[in-house]
Amino acid sequence: MRPIRFAFAITAALALACNTLLPRAAPTPTVAPTEAVAPTPAVPPTAAATPTLARPSDLYIGPGDVAVHPDTGIYSGDRVSFEVFPRDGANIGLENFPVAMYWGETQLAFGPAERYGLGGRLQATFAWVWDTAGLAGPQTITVVLDPQGEIRSGDEIKDNNTLTFTVNVLPRNELPVAQREAEWITAESDCCAFNYITGSAAERDIETIRSTAESAIAFVEEKLGREQAGKMAFNFIDRLLGHGGFASDSVTITYIDRDYAGGGLETVFRHEAAHILNRQGGGQRPSLIEEGMATYIAGGHFKEEPFEPRMVGVLALDRYIPLAQLADNFYASQHEIGYLEGAALIEYLVAEYGWDQFTVLLGAFQRAGSESAMLDGGLRVAYNKSLSTIESEWLDHLRAQPLDERWKNDAAFTIAYYDTVRRYQQAFDSSAHFLTAWVPDIARAVREDITADYDRHPSAPQNVALETMLIEVDRAIEAADFATAARYLASVNAVIASGGSFDSDALAADYLQLTLAALDAGYEPQRIHLESDSATVAASPPEQAAALVEITLTRVDGVWRVN
Ligand SMILES: [Zn+2]
Repeated sequence: MRPIRFAFAITAALALACNTLLPRAAPTPTVAPTEAVAPTPAVPPTAAATPTLARPSDLYIGPGDVAVHPDTGIYSGDRVSFEVFPRDGANIGLENFPVAMYWGETQLAFGPAERYGLGGRLQATFAWVWDTAGLAGPQTITVVLDPQGEIRSGDEIKDNNTLTFTVNVLPRNELPVAQREAEWITAESDCCAFNYITGSAAERDIETIRSTAESAIAFVEEKLGREQAGKMAFNFIDRLLGHGGFASDSVTITYIDRDYAGGGLETVFRHEAAHILNRQGGGQRPSLIEEGMATYIAGGHFKEEPFEPRMVGVLALDRYIPLAQLADNFYASQHEIGYLEGAALIEYLVAEYGWDQFTVLLGAFQRAGSESAMLDGGLRVAYNKSLSTIESEWLDHLRAQPLDERWKNDAAFTIAYYDTVRRYQQAFDSSAHFLTAWVPDIARAVREDITADYDRHPSAPQNVALETMLIEVDRAIEAADFATAARYLASVNAVIASGGSFDSDALAADYLQLTLAALDAGYEPQRIHLESDSATVAASPPEQAAALVEITLTRVDGVWRVN
């Protein structure tokens, strides 16, 4: 057993691909119809035989239609948040009606159900409304939709507007020490301020984070020809949300060892710094250009990568998204294709017409009825050409380029990999999926020292096994080992498709057994590299989440053992 060097941790660490967010973000789909919110089993809502009841045809709420945060169980002293998902049974677009929430007889919150987050889910969102300090054991929570009966049509039956459920408040000393004592701390460098959580990988690597930020931001300033006005603020969180980056007033970045969304720290910093510097310039831009520009400046989406050969690959794969359609639906479109198209289009414009003319474009956008209309208008001002003319000239240019199988495969497997990452999140960590991510006001969390929402996440053995497999997919794609990537992807997808069963897939079963063997020896795996009958595992020792050691396991008579 030996300590692992920092460099290893860093390559493992970062994920990116921010979604530029509205100041507040989103939620969590309802999990299995559980009555009590106990320490969540984290993984498989296994295909349980739920009684099929006739769905009401008016506004209603049922078991499971409330998400309780922090995820994975409530411990005494937690400040608890709720997301309430009303069901619009008549499907008439009900929204902006009130929802009330009670603990016993005490009203905890009262507020509107409205469209929320990138996914626009209908929900009432109550962040940190219930302080559980001093509480222990089962607590009764009640939700009432439209308590004063304000809705005139679409809520005929009042009996189905109330949901009562139990939250079991666990003793605080059952939390791992690091989580129990976690708090936000701040470090600064010339360029930036960094908020991070004690005991996290970010705290361990703060010096590397500092120097990476300095060089990345200098790189972006040089490229954009613009200096930042004040210090940039970064929040480092200890769980994966979305693809690892969110930008609002400050930038929130996932920094963890078991980062199954891949990516590199330098790329994330460049991407987010490009957004911030670009915004300093004022004005508005279509999301396709805003995200494309950040990706172009960073030199890649999750890692450095050549845009044009991958774009030629996307065309060969027949996955090209027409620009007007993409502009009008940017965040809902296939994520990796959308960001790549944006960056590749900008690379083409810069190569063809020069950087100066591109900066004219950045300042040329005017409010319009749609983002494609905004894009069309800006292109006409900067290049005197319509969107469709620019698009067809660009496509002609791309079709004249030779197809490189390596980059075609890279594009194909990157798309499949991130689609699988999102499928995993939807199934087993719904607070993490970017459309429904639970990202409450992080500035307030830092101010009030609330860490649990940014730190606790599902980490049952099944989660660990699947996440370590996803990391291997990323590693294989980077090494252009597409056969391995395909094998691991098929395996992870088989587990997801079966609702969390590891029995039907030999590779997945190995990963689960390796995870269980390491956990049994007291180590939480962060990465697992398997070679037939032996495996190398980067793992955290007990009660030291941010320390990493390397252990090896060997399969003897079909059983994995720590050496
Ligand atoms: Zn972005």
